[in-house]
Amino acid sequence: MKITEIYPTIQGEGPYVGRAIVVLRTGVCNLQCSWCDTKYSWQKDSLPNLKNVANENQALSIINEIETTGMKNNAHTILLTGGEPMIWQKDESLQYIINWFHTKGWQIHCETNGTVPLTYGLLYDFLSISPKVGEYFESYKPEVMNTYLKHNHKVFKFVVGDYKDVAHLISFVNKFKLFSQSIWLMPRGTTPSELNESIDHIENARSFIENFDITFHVSERRHILLNVR
Ligand code: SF4
Repeated sequence: MKITEIYPTIQGEGPYVGRAIVVLRTGVCNLQCSWCDTKYSWQKDSLPNLKNVANENQALSIINEIETTGMKNNAHTILLTGGEPMIWQKDESLQYIINWFHTKGWQIHCETNGTVPLTYGLLYDFLSISPKVGEYFESYKPEVMNTYLKHNHKVFKFVVGDYKDVAHLISFVNKFKLFSQSIWLMPRGTTPSELNESIDHIENARSFIENFDITFHVSERRHILLNVR
């Protein structure tokens, strides 16, 4: 498994906003979104600098780093993110780390783009599935989506910055019949003013989206407002 970085912060998005977390960012991604804000986790030039975890001793070293990091903000939740962490779900070191923290009472939350079949769903207490519907709509297949739909604690999170994003998410919800799922719309942006523009756009589109029988929540990006990572 490749690891990009480990750091303490608060969850800024979705239903667990405000929770103290340790981010465990894996490396490598199977997509290449043009607007990705973590290209350093998967771009070719970055890969040689990522930490390799391939045996028990290296996994124990990561466990130690996560524990020490968690003490800084009293976190008992790991947010596994990427890159695309599901690429590593069969990796023994990752499973070892997750099982170790579960025995200590920690929760494991995971953010995924939802394109890699979920085979170890029980390892994750919560999944935030964030489909990249603009550039990769055709990459989403029912047989893969069904593996995520079986998970009992999940949300679908769509990034919205303009009208095209709204049209794409409506098509996606239709394609996979996600009407009864917990759907979150998250404003695109990395500064407070960009977020405000995107939130205005979501609110303007609210009645249009609801015409399609889609009930949704609007996600914060509180870490940006607080100017923390
Ligand atoms: S799926 Fe996520 S991590 Fe991968 S390129 Fe797209 S935004 Fe970046």
